[in-house]
Amino acid sequence: MSNWPTLDIPKWHQELPELNLSLTSGRQPKLGKNESFKMYVCGITPYDATHLGHAATYLTFDLIHRYLKISGRDVDFVENITDIDDPLFERAKRDNQSWSKLGESQVALFESDMTSLRILPPKNYVAVTEAMSSIIRAIEFLVEKGLTYELSGNIYFRITPYLNELPVALDAALLIFAERGGDPERVGKESSLDPILWIANKDGEPGWDSKMGFGRPGWHIECSVIALENLIGKDYLDAGATSSKTIALQGGGSDLIFPHHFMSSALAKALTNSDFADAYLHAAMVGLDGEKMSKSKGNLVFVSKLLSQGVDPMVLRHALLSENYSEDRMWRSETLKQSEERVAKLRSALSRIECAPTDEIIRAIALKIADNLNTPAALDLLDKWALDTSNGEIGGSVGELSRFIDGALGLAP
Ligand code: ZN
Repeated sequence: MSNWPTLDIPKWHQELPELNLSLTSGRQPKLGKNESFKMYVCGITPYDATHLGHAATYLTFDLIHRYLKISGRDVDFVENITDIDDPLFERAKRDNQSWSKLGESQVALFESDMTSLRILPPKNYVAVTEAMSSIIRAIEFLVEKGLTYELSGNIYFRITPYLNELPVALDAALLIFAERGGDPERVGKESSLDPILWIANKDGEPGWDSKMGFGRPGWHIECSVIALENLIGKDYLDAGATSSKTIALQGGGSDLIFPHHFMSSALAKALTNSDFADAYLHAAMVGLDGEKMSKSKGNLVFVSKLLSQGVDPMVLRHALLSENYSEDRMWRSETLKQSEERVAKLRSALSRIECAPTDEIIRAIALKIADNLNTPAALDLLDKWALDTSNGEIGGSVGELSRFIDGALGLAP
């Protein structure tokens, strides 16, 4: 898939503190100094534009990406595009347009939003349609291993051996599964939570030939395969391959914890006999006016809309960074207003020749980011520095601080 433009993030000239994340589950990825950090973040289903919840999620993983890069680490970052999925087909049908054209237009809009927000692109940006032969090969492998069963032309994966790792209680899991694309009520399933791997072709939907018949893959297996193939290598199914088949980090919005990340991790384990990821990290949800922001409520705030209304993308980025990624939050227009003022003060301070001392503030900001991406505290430190500068303090280097906050926070003045 095409990708949006990358930005140069050079290694910082001083040693930075080790990143310490409050993970949803797993353990802090321990890496050798020369090892690349293998990170997979679930991408969009391109049926609608990027809303603020998406932006907050991709911004969270962008902070990790940036921090590792300025720390001198090589990052293998893969993101997918779920361009084969029910919501895309439903929206295309509703709007009487082709699913592929709808997908293409929304991917283009997403890329433009990511560029405006200065989110670094993944190394590999892979659409499900591009990975179809690998996904089919993986499903055929699971079928051959006897881990699946057929029901009316569809293929299901037996999830029971993995249920001891369920991240939520079983009764809650059944409810959430039904809400998020699962079919727990389907008659004939061995276990209500078994995820569908292969969907027999339905009228008007695209399909591919496979040993399972003509159809298309289910959602969860798509991510397992794209992640493994792009981060581990084409030989990830090979039992003889000796290198580790575990990636460092799997990420996404907290609405993906169950079922998507639970299922894709179980499937990856069935494919490789190894744990899928060392660590799982999720960005919390963004709501509006006291309610969850969602397509069903019709209260989504779109990035492209805010930008077309003249919102400065750096102000939007600042506003999203001004609250913690790990706590659900409400979007308020006052946050944007406050960020507008704060960014203006920062820009004014950064445009001076003389400025308040910068060495200490750079170290302090790095410590805040390393401490579970505490961006609200990092931005408070910048406010303090801008105030000190406007009060006439001197002794710092504007260029040095500019370079650091651009690399670490993506805030170009
Ligand atoms: Zn995914």
